[in-house]
Amino acid sequence: MTSTPLSVPQANPGAGYRALKPEIDAAIQRALASGWYVLGEEGRGFEREFAAWLGIPHAVGCGNGTDALALALRALGIGPGCAVATVSHTAVATVAAIEMAGATPVLIDIDPRHYTIDPVELDTVLAHPPAGLPPIRAVIPVHLYGQAADLDAIAATCDRHGAAMIEDCSQAHGATLHGRTVGTFGQVACFSLYPTKNLGALGDGGVIATADTALAERLAALRQYGWRRHYISEDIGVNSRLDELQAAILRAKLPHLHAQNARRAAIAARYDAALAGTAITPPARRPEAGHVFHQYVIRVPDRAALQARLRERGIGTGVHYPVPVHLQAAYCGRVALGPAACRESERAAAEVLSLPMYPELTDAQVDQVCTALT
Ligand SMILES: *Cc1c(COP(=O)(O)O)cnc(C)c1O
Repeated sequence: MTSTPLSVPQANPGAGYRALKPEIDAAIQRALASGWYVLGEEGRGFEREFAAWLGIPHAVGCGNGTDALALALRALGIGPGCAVATVSHTAVATVAAIEMAGATPVLIDIDPRHYTIDPVELDTVLAHPPAGLPPIRAVIPVHLYGQAADLDAIAATCDRHGAAMIEDCSQAHGATLHGRTVGTFGQVACFSLYPTKNLGALGDGGVIATADTALAERLAALRQYGWRRHYISEDIGVNSRLDELQAAILRAKLPHLHAQNARRAAIAARYDAALAGTAITPPARRPEAGHVFHQYVIRVPDRAALQARLRERGIGTGVHYPVPVHLQAAYCGRVALGPAACRESERAAAEVLSLPMYPELTDAQVDQVCTALT
């Protein structure tokens, strides 16, 4: 590994802070001065503003995106004795959350063009579940890299088989499908607010969105010891709260998110233009989807060589993700797979490469990446 500092890192949350420093610093001062640091005005304000931004009645803050998924499952009554279908080509958190809730994951392959769950295989698995699996009670489509999964087909499949649809929106804050924001399609939607996400705190955070008032109330209880009233646990809860400092920071950042997503799309368009006519496969877009480019992911057979060439020129890259969940030591040989055995997930893991992508990239930095690619 070279120690030369990169002139274009692949991610840069510090630049995200510096770009909005006056607003973020003011928000932090306000939260500090309030004298109230967990579940107060800032948290309620963020929940209200995020729900309005998304266009859904309720948002409930929590500790991180993994907890958001586990809490959503538990709030829907999905746990031991239930299976949940999702993908292997995702952050390991998606699958970890299913097991945190006590449920059994079953991993479906991806559509290799868009890297999201294959709705045809999903339908087959719901109609004919692998032997020995408990009933499949929920499906978690992941809007990977910032582009909506094929929710038209997935929602129809879920309805047909009586499974809940829980959207994993951790990479897709503001992404749309037919002009409607993702996170408003399923019974419930989960967002990570980790620093590098499209909407990121300066620490951990998560938020859960739903149109169902009773479910929102249950989520709010589950995230804090099952309390509906202080010190009275009606449900078996956990401690997974969004703190006031993070909520205040997120409130400062939220009004800029649409413009930041537009900047990501503009950077993506420049990468697209540079890649035209090369042997590198650019990301495929669904015509009905508004992509928010959490990552700009290309596909190259000789990934290591391209990665090394870019590194020599000061450009950082990432691999999201190098090992599909079903091949990780913690899951290998133990998790159920659909009939396609996640072969496209394995192929993708060997070839995907994420270019630098964040709104603070300058045009000169983007040009530097484009030149190095061609
Ligand atoms: C980041 C991420 C998560 C987990 O979020 P944390 O806040 O790190 O717990 C879950 N799913 C996906 C798709 C993610 O990208």
